[in-house]
Amino acid sequence: MSTEYYQQVIGRIYNEILPFHGKGKVADYIPALAEVNPMQFGIAVESLGGGTAMRGDAATCFSIQSISKVFTFAMVMSRVGEDIWKAVGREPSGNPFNSLVQLEHEKGIPRNPFINAGALVVTDRLMELYPRPKEAILDFVRSLCGNDDIYYDHQVAQSERDHADRNMALAHFIKSFGNIHNEVDALIDVYCHQCAISMNCVDLARSFLFLANRGVNPADGKRILTMSQAKRLGAIMATCGFYDESGDFAFRVGLPGKSGVGGGIVAYLPEKLSVAVWGPELNAYGNSLMGIEALERFTTDISSSIF
Ligand code: GLN
Repeated sequence: MSTEYYQQVIGRIYNEILPFHGKGKVADYIPALAEVNPMQFGIAVESLGGGTAMRGDAATCFSIQSISKVFTFAMVMSRVGEDIWKAVGREPSGNPFNSLVQLEHEKGIPRNPFINAGALVVTDRLMELYPRPKEAILDFVRSLCGNDDIYYDHQVAQSERDHADRNMALAHFIKSFGNIHNEVDALIDVYCHQCAISMNCVDLARSFLFLANRGVNPADGKRILTMSQAKRLGAIMATCGFYDESGDFAFRVGLPGKSGVGGGIVAYLPEKLSVAVWGPELNAYGNSLMGIEALERFTTDISSSIF
């Protein structure tokens, strides 16, 4: 399909989505996120054949938050391979993103890499693999989307650090089982920074194209993940990418994807395209309310999903 076609589709969706403003709530447990103007919405589509379609606030940067968990997991998976499954599981948790309850029964092995507990373990491993982890994460994301201006929003990172009691509790608890190796303070610092990466919908859609392209960055032909690793990462996004709303996202949208409490969602259609949406108002599960509405319309309009 042509870029003009996608431009028309998202133009229609944009108009249908605007009335949903006011139905969700901006995240406020990280104070810096509560300051974001809720009256914004953007959508961008990148197709593998080349070409960008964008509408609304698609060029406005926002905090990617948990979308960063896909980047860090890809970095670690590409280096440690199958051994990662000794440290983290691959089952949906059915619990909120920041839940502590399963960890005790499961002896500090988090259910999957996308709940906070799992992402903390992944970032802990990343810190062992890369001596300068914050630089390495930025370099990786910049190379994926071809934009060297991607940066950390230090104010958001500091704001999350100042209110990180729950993530600190998760990290200490996991460390008591021996599944976190670094000092918790240093780990939380890297984690809060990865969550505070500032990107717009176009950058995000571009940075997920390597997954649509079976592990190879289409911009430079570089293989990021093996075919099998890319398939597995997609499977975890499809089953765990939206926490306890993952089933409903599969039901309504039908694409592998990942959300963040900054209001962003990125999803992709294998061998075709990636799509990023951003609307800061969240639903009760901490996922972008307008984003899911928009993506449901998107896969319906283009009559394609992975199912
Ligand atoms: N930084 C956030 C946290 O750890 C990320 C959560 C999210 O985006 N779901 O609470």
